Amino acid sequence: MSRMRSCKRCGTCCSKGGPALHTEDLPLIDGRHLTIPDLITIRAGEPVFSPLVNTIEPSRSELIKLAGQDDSWTCHFFDQAQNLCGIYANRPLECRLLKCWETADLTQVIYQHCLSRHDIIPANDDLWELITIQEEHCEFAKIAALAAEFITTCNSTTQTEIGRIVSLDLKIRQRAIQLRRLSVAEELLYFGRPLFKSLAFYHLTLHEGPHGITVHSASSLGA
Ligand code: SF4
Repeated sequence: MSRMRSCKRCGTCCSKGGPALHTEDLPLIDGRHLTIPDLITIRAGEPVFSPLVNTIEPSRSELIKLAGQDDSWTCHFFDQAQNLCGIYANRPLECRLLKCWETADLTQVIYQHCLSRHDIIPANDDLWELITIQEEHCEFAKIAALAAEFITTCNSTTQTEIGRIVSLDLKIRQRAIQLRRLSVAEELLYFGRPLFKSLAFYHLTLHEGPHGITVHSASSLGA
């Protein structure tokens, strides 16, 4: 049986998520090839598909990736009807290196020289103050630790603390939108995806009631 040695354009790699961008890709973010709405921030610790382990894992560092389509991870530039890349001639480094029959070239660059918001958002942007508050008080690592504790103990103080952090993340975004009228795409670059979107990874579900946000164990709801 012959082994695959060339790209069959099946689109599987493009459906697993857009690439993380590296310093080599910085010239592409020139407002012509890639623009702000094409990008999304993955915050450190956020659950994300990793080509290194071929599954979802907490991101080992902050990343800037090409955005997905609607609520899926399928790359923003992937034309699903025609199985074509919309920016093939100017595709980022990871896309140029990826050969699904031989992944060594790609795995060598994963998490190496990755772009972060500091490479894209000017240092004097007044939204850095809110980004810093989010980084200090809404860490994915903290949510992961609290979620593990809550799933084991059902401790109500821990449950309240998770709800408080998820609410704070939303309040920070609302404040930024008030200040700057950010579009959804701009919000996803400045602040990444809202924390509540990742709760399922920690086996939690979110409920919004008259007294605010609460989280619950997904298994307790299904029981
Ligand atoms: S930029 Fe092109 S090749 Fe890369 S993931 Fe997106 S559609 Fe696929």
